[in-house]
Amino acid sequence: MIGFRDAFSKSPWLLHYDASSCNGCDIETLACLTPLYDVERLGVINTGNPKHADIFLVTGAVNEQSRDVIKNIYHQLPEPKVVVAVGICACSGGIFRECYNIAGGVDNVIPVDVYVPGCAARPEAVIDGVVKALGVLESKQREMVALADSIDKVVYLRAAKIDAPELLALQRIAYQSEAELYGDDSLPALQQTLEELEEDFERRPQREVALLGVRGTEAEDPADRVVFLKAVVNGKIIGSVRGYAVDGTAYLSRMMVHPYFRRRGIGRRLLDEVEAAFPHVGRFEAKTGHQSKRNLFQLTQRGYQVFKQEPFTPAITWVYLQKQPAGAPPSASSKN
Ligand code: SF4
Repeated sequence: MIGFRDAFSKSPWLLHYDASSCNGCDIETLACLTPLYDVERLGVINTGNPKHADIFLVTGAVNEQSRDVIKNIYHQLPEPKVVVAVGICACSGGIFRECYNIAGGVDNVIPVDVYVPGCAARPEAVIDGVVKALGVLESKQREMVALADSIDKVVYLRAAKIDAPELLALQRIAYQSEAELYGDDSLPALQQTLEELEEDFERRPQREVALLGVRGTEAEDPADRVVFLKAVVNGKIIGSVRGYAVDGTAYLSRMMVHPYFRRRGIGRRLLDEVEAAFPHVGRFEAKTGHQSKRNLFQLTQRGYQVFKQEPFTPAITWVYLQKQPAGAPPSASSKN
């Protein structure tokens, strides 16, 4: 019987996207499926559904039209996944590199694991690239299994600006299920850019009086900034949450856990840690989408109560929840 881990190499599912190819590389890629090469006999399936795919194979250079499509497809592939750039256009932009409408190779938009050069890349080279991709896929799978096996060794730390790229990548993976839930990817978490996220590390919340206590110390550093926490295992960030205090209220946001590590208590522990980072506030506030049952359940289990609902888009309504920490004096800004 084929084990779960072997299944990747025995039958990889592949999604092919033409970013702006001249069709040369597409024809060579599709030739791999014809009777001469017949990669299906080796278990390779060309699927049209990114959620079923392990390998994202891209031909052609990136242009303004394909840039967002590539990102969108990439984020829909489940983890672990690998990206194969087929043809010199996909690898670097090729002969179109200097064109006004070309943004270069695929790695300008998403991380690429395997490069298959050539113009056009021959079917043998495409197959070779896919075989190399399987090796990468297996090592990513092993890494994720190792992370899952060390789940009891998760540490919860303050994140710093240097973590912004990894946090943003996690954010895009973690919020994909929310976008699917609402059929709407206009969620701010999915729209945020790296520059905006890096700015958040510098931003001071607007406030009159705030004291974001760092546990055990009165902050000597500029602690009146947004607090970023991260859950780390084996050096990888698998969860995060943010919070900031304004006028005695701590606002908690962007609570996220990598889909592979959900339902293991990481979200609960992150909420414990972020609440503990604000020992002096009289009120906590959080918000989530109206259909995000898991978030609503988790927050109400912790004593949060709904006090307001506000439409965000036709598909999404924000639900605002609040709670008072045990022993906190009634907050002037409490919004019952
Ligand atoms: S590498 Fe050559 S064949 Fe492939 S898409 Fe670019 S120009 Fe066409």
